[in-house]
Amino acid sequence: MAKTNTVKASELLFPTPRTILDKEGFFRFHDGITIAVDPSFTSLIETAPALLQIQQGGEDILVKQQDGFPSEGYSLTIGKKQIVIKASDEVGAFRGISTLRNLTYTSDHRLPCCAIEDSPSFAWRGFMIDCSRHYFSPAFLKKLIDVASLYHLNRFHWHLSDDQGWRIPLDGWPQLEKVASKRTLLQYTDGRTYGRLYTKEEILEVQAYAHARHMIVVPEIETPGHVSSLLAAYPHFGCSGGPYEVQDRWGIFDEVLCAGNNQVLEFLEDAITQIAALFSDPYIHIGGDECPHTAWESCPKCQKRMQEEGLSKEKELQSWMTSKICAMVNKAGKRPIGWDEVLEGTESLGLPEDLIVMSWRGVAGGIEASERGHEVIMCPNTDGCYFDYQHTDDEEEMGNLGVSSITQVAQFDPLAGLKGETDRARVLGSQGNLWSEKITNGRQAEYMLFPRLMVLAERLWNPQEPEKTLDRIPLLYKVCDALSIHCYRGPLA
Ligand SMILES: [Zn+2]
Repeated sequence: MAKTNTVKASELLFPTPRTILDKEGFFRFHDGITIAVDPSFTSLIETAPALLQIQQGGEDILVKQQDGFPSEGYSLTIGKKQIVIKASDEVGAFRGISTLRNLTYTSDHRLPCCAIEDSPSFAWRGFMIDCSRHYFSPAFLKKLIDVASLYHLNRFHWHLSDDQGWRIPLDGWPQLEKVASKRTLLQYTDGRTYGRLYTKEEILEVQAYAHARHMIVVPEIETPGHVSSLLAAYPHFGCSGGPYEVQDRWGIFDEVLCAGNNQVLEFLEDAITQIAALFSDPYIHIGGDECPHTAWESCPKCQKRMQEEGLSKEKELQSWMTSKICAMVNKAGKRPIGWDEVLEGTESLGLPEDLIVMSWRGVAGGIEASERGHEVIMCPNTDGCYFDYQHTDDEEEMGNLGVSSITQVAQFDPLAGLKGETDRARVLGSQGNLWSEKITNGRQAEYMLFPRLMVLAERLWNPQEPEKTLDRIPLLYKVCDALSIHCYRGPLA
């Protein structure tokens, strides 16, 4: 009998697994099939059948513990009668389950038989959502986390404060909710406001959801710049004392946290301690980008601080602040991450050793940080990692400031420009960043994120020739359709 369907598993998988052997035959995947998960993988016993929308109680799919796999690695064998996933730990097993789930969408539940061995190229595979400029609901964030985990992404960077809104509740600081979380919308004359805090329950719920998908959550609060919302709530934290307002315009604002005011340091210490308690993962992002020093130049308190600390330039005062804030993060038991501006003004004070540098203004900051012995996350706005940029240079396309075409993402190499093996090893990976000045709701966010984020995921999991990646974009549309994601489908360049 002639075969009417000869599609192979290797043509349906995205990201491409490290090794794949196509075999004859198919496994018919339907909601009557069963799964048995190794009892040592406790968190997967409930999660795996729920994600695959099947039942526990039989062995059509078998998830087994076996030592010897690399970090996050797994094997997946699809036979005509049974599917077997093996991994050393729950993370690896989860990646295998995600590959299987992804294949159910791209194969229309008729899974071609195959044998896969798989593991990632980079440890840090993430995405950032700016929830300050526009607020995104916990339900939407969970939808994003779920799709991201389907592509083996493992870091959710949650940008929670900026000039236009503060989103984390902190005990003892009631003005954060009353003032910093809301802004007046200048486009309206009726005084309506925009914004709110997340509740602690919502933050814990999003975290639990991410953890069930083996994704680490990285909270960010901006310091010492991009703080208009915080200054509006507590004007004495600024050099001039205000008054300030939560901004409803986009840009960089001159007034920042006063580096000469000890009450600012006391607030930051309390905020970081509370954030460290609320977020259970190992990192806190401390911002550090786009901080003008003009207010510090004419502030007696800041100038006095510089004198006391023997600092000759305002850039060094920012470096002094960075060191203080990193020490607070360490004291709270976490590791700090900062945007690449943290490298500036560090001639006399140096940079805290364990600070991870996130390179966004191109790759130069990441290269310098690595050469100086720091771990690095590469997310250059010049090379396709900024998903608030347009997909293509077309005035009718959504997006802001620049272009990050799908082709650029498919060509992105987090190690480009890094010379020695030691410097390359310090690059943990990369992430796609979605700033939300012009993105007001989840549907628009989906259009900007997909399929670019999926393409980036393959670059970080197991990079392929760009042409091969671009040829398989229709697979990504298929998953977007299955998950009701409003994705971009226009030109790739
Ligand atoms: Zn000051």
